[in-house]
This record gives sequence, C-alpha cells and structure tokens, in this order.
Amino acid sequence: MILLDGKKTSADLKVEIAASVKQLKEQGKKTPHLAAILVGTDGASMTYVNAKVKACELVGFNSTLIDLPEETSEETLLQAIENLNTNNDIDGFIVQLPLPKHIDEQKVLMAINPDKDVDGFHPTNVGRMTLELPSFLPATPFGILELLERYNVETSGKQVVVIGRSHIVGRPMSILMSQKRKAGDATVTVAHSRTKNLKELTLQADIIVAALGIPEFLTGDMVKDGVTIIDVGITRIDDSSKKSGYRLAGDVHFESVAPKSAYITPVPGGVGPMTIAMLMKNTLLACERKA
Ligand code: NAD
Repeated sequence: MILLDGKKTSADLKVEIAASVKQLKEQGKKTPHLAAILVGTDGASMTYVNAKVKACELVGFNSTLIDLPEETSEETLLQAIENLNTNNDIDGFIVQLPLPKHIDEQKVLMAINPDKDVDGFHPTNVGRMTLELPSFLPATPFGILELLERYNVETSGKQVVVIGRSHIVGRPMSILMSQKRKAGDATVTVAHSRTKNLKELTLQADIIVAALGIPEFLTGDMVKDGVTIIDVGITRIDDSSKKSGYRLAGDVHFESVAPKSAYITPVPGGVGPMTIAMLMKNTLLACERKA
C-alpha cells in the first residue's frame, strides 16, 4: 500500500509556485494577488480561508481577505465582487462557500468575472472545462488529478467509481477523468444518493473517489484488492481527547480499506492540502494569462 501524500506533494507544488513567483518578481513583472471573501464566522470556513491566506504568504503572493458579517446583504456582497472584478491588481478571487441562507449562491458565483474565477465554479469555466478548452479547473478535482499524475497512478482504461455528484467535487471529477488526458481516459461511473447497487459497483472499481461527506462510509468489504482510493471527505467529529474538541474523518474507513489498496489518500494530509495548492496554481495561471 502506497500513501498518496498530499501534504508532501502540495509542499513540493508550493515550492515550484514560489520559484515561479520569484522569477516573475526578478523580471519586474506583477506579483500574483489572490483575494478571498468570507461572509460570517463559520468555524470550518474561517479555517479554510486562513489556510489559503497563509499559503499565499508562503508562495510570495499578495493576498487580501474581505471579511464580511453574517448579516451582509446579497447586494453588498455583489458590490464587493464587482469591486474585485474591476480592481486591476487582483488576479483572482474566491467567495468562500457555504454562504448564509439569505444569499443566493448561484447569483453570487455568476457575478464573478470568469477570468478571475480561480475556484472554477462559474458556468463559463465549467463549460470550458467540459469542452476541454483552457479554463480554471475546480481546485479539489484539479488536486486529485495532480496527485494521481505525480504518483504515476495508471488511469487509462480503468474503471473509476466517483461517489457523489456535487458541482464542486463529484461532477467535475467524473468529467475530467473521462476525458482524454493524463490521469484520465478512464471509464467513469457516477454514484449518488439514489444509486441502488453501490457495493456491486465499488467492488468492480480500479479507482474509487469517495466524495459524499459521510464519515468512514466506504469499508473494506466494498472494495477489491489493488484498488486506488481517493478520500475527499472531511467531517469534523466531536472528540474530547483532542485539544480542538474534534477530529477529522474521511469518507473511507481507512483501517479496513488501506490493507486492500494499492494507493490511498489519508485524511487529513491527502486531498485537503492539494486543494489549497491548486488554488495557488490557478492564481498564478490567472496572473500569467492576464500578462
Ligand atoms: P455534497 O454534500 O454537496 O454532495 C454529496 C454527494 O454525495 C451528493 O451528490 C449525494 O448524492 C452523494 N451521496 C450522499 N449520500 C450518499 C450515499 N449514501 N451513497 C452514495 N452517494 C451519496 O458534498 P461535497 O461538497 O461534494 O463534499 C463531499 C465531502 O468532501 C464533504 O465531506 C466535504 O467536506 C469534503 N470536501 C473536501 C474538500 C477537500 O479539499 N478535501 C473539498 C470539498 C469538499
């Protein structure tokens, strides 16, 4: 069993991005600048945004955090987005999800200039991704592709089961892995909450991407020997033995699945850190494209 080490791979990626930034600066070119909008005080969202700001510092980007209160109106948020759309110094920006219930998420994502949409959630980027045109790939699927590529995991002609059909993970993952590309060319099945024969499907799979958000859902009896496992799930579970009061659980029951796996991502330290590194990569790309 080989661990697909997202912590190490993302650190390598950040070193590479930092080298590119240094080069840009030496050539007198613009320093990439990422902005993030956070609405409210959700604990997990604050942790993610802070990690993104820290990653910007590490690679030498400029970063701006726009911290808005929970009761911010949709109109105020749309105005903040418009300000970032028209601010020439900002190369890319993200609006941290989920948003408070009174704000229409789709309307907000649609308001982002696709050229600055480094999360890759705007319909223009989703469409371009689907048509295999240059776009911003959503960071989590992009990170999974990068991990598979760097560990030379063979995907061509393999049976892939993606569990989950969300717009940010499952759906794009299934599209990307079915495309003609490195870490692609696979035969992909998308499973979701209405799938009736999941175990039958996962037992056939060479590669399983678990992105459903149910802790330790995929167990050893559901996979075949030699499978590759990508565990996207991150759920906080109360744990009084931890200083934070919680532990992080993936969607895979690691103890029973790992012994049967050829490759497996741990949680934490697998897909999570890759997501942040790919956001940095998209921001660098946005800056280079603008130039
Ligand atoms: P989501 O809630 O939007 O979607 C979950 C999907 O799982 C749905 O499509 C649903 O149909 C499917 N599903 C639910 N129950 C199922 C079942 N019993 N069998 C089969 N399919 C089922 O979730 P999401 O936003 O895609 O996130 C999934 C998980 O990944 C969450 O734990 C989330 O925290 C995590 N996540 C991690 C990262 C990262 O960077 N590592 C990024 C995004 C999301």
